Amino acid sequence: MKYYSLNKEAPNTTFEDAVVRGLAPDKGLYFPEKITPLPDSFFQSINKKSNPEIAYEAIKQFVGHEIPETDLKSIIEETLCFDFPVIEFNESVSTLELFHGPTMAFKDVGARFMARCLGYFNKNNSRNITVLVATSGDTGGAVANGFLGVKGVNVVILYPSGKVSDIQEKQLTTLGQNITALEVDGVFDDCQDMVKQAFVDDSLTSAIQLTSANSINIARWLPQLFYFMFAYKQLKSKYKNISFSVPSGNFGNVCAGMVAQKLGLPIRHFIASNNENNVVTNYLKTNTYLPKASVQTISNAMDVGNPSNFIRIKELYDSDFKALKKNLSSYSFSDNKTREALSEIYLSYNYIADPHGAVGYLGAKEHLKHKPDDHVVFLETAHPTKFLDVVEDVINIKVDLPEQIKSVIDKEKKSIKILDYNDLKTFLLD
Ligand SMILES: *Cc1c(COP(=O)(O)O)cnc(C)c1O
Repeated sequence: MKYYSLNKEAPNTTFEDAVVRGLAPDKGLYFPEKITPLPDSFFQSINKKSNPEIAYEAIKQFVGHEIPETDLKSIIEETLCFDFPVIEFNESVSTLELFHGPTMAFKDVGARFMARCLGYFNKNNSRNITVLVATSGDTGGAVANGFLGVKGVNVVILYPSGKVSDIQEKQLTTLGQNITALEVDGVFDDCQDMVKQAFVDDSLTSAIQLTSANSINIARWLPQLFYFMFAYKQLKSKYKNISFSVPSGNFGNVCAGMVAQKLGLPIRHFIASNNENNVVTNYLKTNTYLPKASVQTISNAMDVGNPSNFIRIKELYDSDFKALKKNLSSYSFSDNKTREALSEIYLSYNYIADPHGAVGYLGAKEHLKHKPDDHVVFLETAHPTKFLDVVEDVINIKVDLPEQIKSVIDKEKKSIKILDYNDLKTFLLD
C-alpha cells in the first residue's frame, strides 16, 4: 500500500515511511491510495471471529507486505489484549466502552499499535526515533504507556505544569525507561507550539529522527476503525440500522469509522457529537469551514478549534458536500446540557458516563428524533474516573478507582522542567 500527501506536493511513500515521518515533507497528512472493500462473507460471519482476527483482516491492506503476517498478527494480539463491550441501554441506544485499556482512554489502541509497528521497523536498525508529543492530558498517558519499553524509540512528552489532573500527571511521569516527561511552565498551546517548532527546525531534524504520535500519524489513526467492527459484531443479530455517535475533537475516530464503512461495514449514519467547539457542526450547516480558537469545556479532550483530521474526511468524500451531509450529521452541546446528560444516564440507566460519552449520548438522542428506527451506538471514549471532579459533582456519588488508576497513584513523579524552546532543543540534542 502506498500513501500520498493530502497537500499533493510530496512523493508517495510506503506505510513504514509514513509511520516514521508522521507528517509528509510538504506538511500534508498521509492518506491511503486505495481502500478495497472486504468480501460480504467477512461481515456475514463477523460474529464468529475473534477481535484480533477481525482487526487483522481489516488492517492488512493498509500495511501491505511491509510487516509479515505472523508479526502483524502478534502486533494486533498485543494491541487488543482487553475488552470492547457494548452496553445496551434500550432498543434505540447502546454504548461501546473504549476505556478498558491500560490508561483507560480510547487512544490506547492507536498508541499501542503505532508503538509496535515502529518497534518492528526498528528491530534490525540502529537508528533511534524520538516521538515528540504535546498533551493536554489524555494523549500523553496513552502514548507513554503504549511506547514503554519499545526498542529504539524514545518518547518525549510535553505537558503544561499544573494544568493536567493528578491522575493524568502520574500516568505521564511515573513510567521511566524510554519515556521522559517535560513539564512546561505554560499552557497546552505553549507545549503544542514548541512541538510544531521542533518539526520545522532543520538543525534539529537533521540531527535526530522525530515523529509525532497524534492521530495525524496513520498508525494511530487507522486502527480506530476496529471499534466500529467490534460494536457491529455484538449488535448485528439484533438491529438492522446501526448508526454511531462519536464524541469528536480532532475527528480521527469518526474518520476511521468512515474507513470501516468504505471497507463494507454496514453503518447507516455517523453523528459527530461536539461540545461548544462546533466548527464542523457549523460547516455542515453552512458549507463554510471556519476554524476558530478553542474554548475550554468539561469534555476537554474535544476542545479543538481546527480538527486536524477533517481534511481526511473531505478526501473520503471527494469534497462532495452533499454526499458527506447524507452520511454525517453533527450537533454541538453546552456544558450544562452535558451535565444534564450525565445525570439522566445515571438516573435512567444506572450507568456512569464520562463527559465525552455524555456528549455522544446527546448526539445519539438528537439523531433519533430524525431517524427513530435506528439503533445508535455512542462511543464511551474515557473512563469516568478520569474526569472525577465533574462526574462526582453531577451524580453525587463516590466512584471507585479502577486498578489501572490505583496502580499509578502512589508512584513517584519524575519530570524535567523546561521554560522555552531552547530548553527543549538542548534536551533533544543531548
Ligand atoms: C481524543 C479524545 C476524543 C476525541 O477524539 P478525536 O479522534 O480527536 O475526534 C474524545 N474523547 C476522549 C476522551 C479523547 O481522549
